[in-house]
Amino acid sequence: MTAHPLEGTGALVTGGGSGIGLAIATRLAADGATVTICGRSAERLDAAVAGADLGDGPGALHPVTADVTDEEAVVAAVRAAEAHAGGPLAAVVANAGGSTSIGPVTQLGVDEWAATTALNLTGTMLALKHGAASMVRGGGGSFVAISSTAGSLVHPWFGAYGPAKAGINQLCRQAADELGPSWVRVNAVCPGLIDTDLVEFITAGGPVLESYRENTPIDRVGSPDDIASLVRFLVGPESTWLTGQVITVDGGQSLRRGPSLAGAIEPLFGADGLRGVVPDPA
Ligand code: NDP
Repeated sequence: MTAHPLEGTGALVTGGGSGIGLAIATRLAADGATVTICGRSAERLDAAVAGADLGDGPGALHPVTADVTDEEAVVAAVRAAEAHAGGPLAAVVANAGGSTSIGPVTQLGVDEWAATTALNLTGTMLALKHGAASMVRGGGGSFVAISSTAGSLVHPWFGAYGPAKAGINQLCRQAADELGPSWVRVNAVCPGLIDTDLVEFITAGGPVLESYRENTPIDRVGSPDDIASLVRFLVGPESTWLTGQVITVDGGQSLRRGPSLAGAIEPLFGADGLRGVVPDPA
């Protein structure tokens, strides 16, 4: 195998300006891929490109601003990535995600539910729809969605986040069956707790971090590189018969149980609120 086995691979990584997405984009580019990263903040993307250490190979990182919940913006991002790569894409990583929806199910806000579902599930669908179309045109490729352990392991009080990630898992299985005949593989990766800005409120310490750690056999917080290593494998020539899988990287946490957010959110909702008590509207 060459020193840069992804040379000639055109890739798009959504949410690639920070955290897990930046680690993935950097890893792919260091192995030779021409990677376009998208996000909403041009400043964040520019800083990511300027700060990334890609080694001395042929790979490159390019920024393009795009909100993954906006179909026209996703189309434009795919076009930009194709232009940078000089042809159709061979890898698309739908990584952009997060949550504005936390709390008891009896108090879920419809706006927060919709926003979280749009970012995670619709955003992944749009990257798949337009990214896979490019990969089909190019004769094949690999799509990877960044899901979460919350998509299969129950995470109480995580609102729309777990259901949206569960939707991503099933979307990937469905698309893997549809796109296999076009040599496009589709897989989902489910991280456990990874040290990024998204979960800084947990990794900073306290009862929620303790809840994670007491349920994680390999007792540490994960790093973005733990996820990037698997995505690199799923994108590369080592995994060309692997599709339709939902793969967990969590230090073994899903052998046990999801975390309890109670220590962080009971002060907001009260113990009764957490078990679903709301004032009788009558
Ligand atoms: P970060 O918050 O560090 O990064 C998220 C990135 O996504 C940011 O660069 C952000 O940039 C971008 N983004 C957010 N919203 C949009 C949008 N609408 N359109 C385009 N880009 C967007 O989070 P992580 O790296 O931790 O998370 C990456 C993925 O991993 C997410 O899908 C998350 O759900 C998943 N995950 C994370 C875990 C963890 O413990 N960290 C655990 C399990 C799953 P900008 O704001 O500029 O748009």
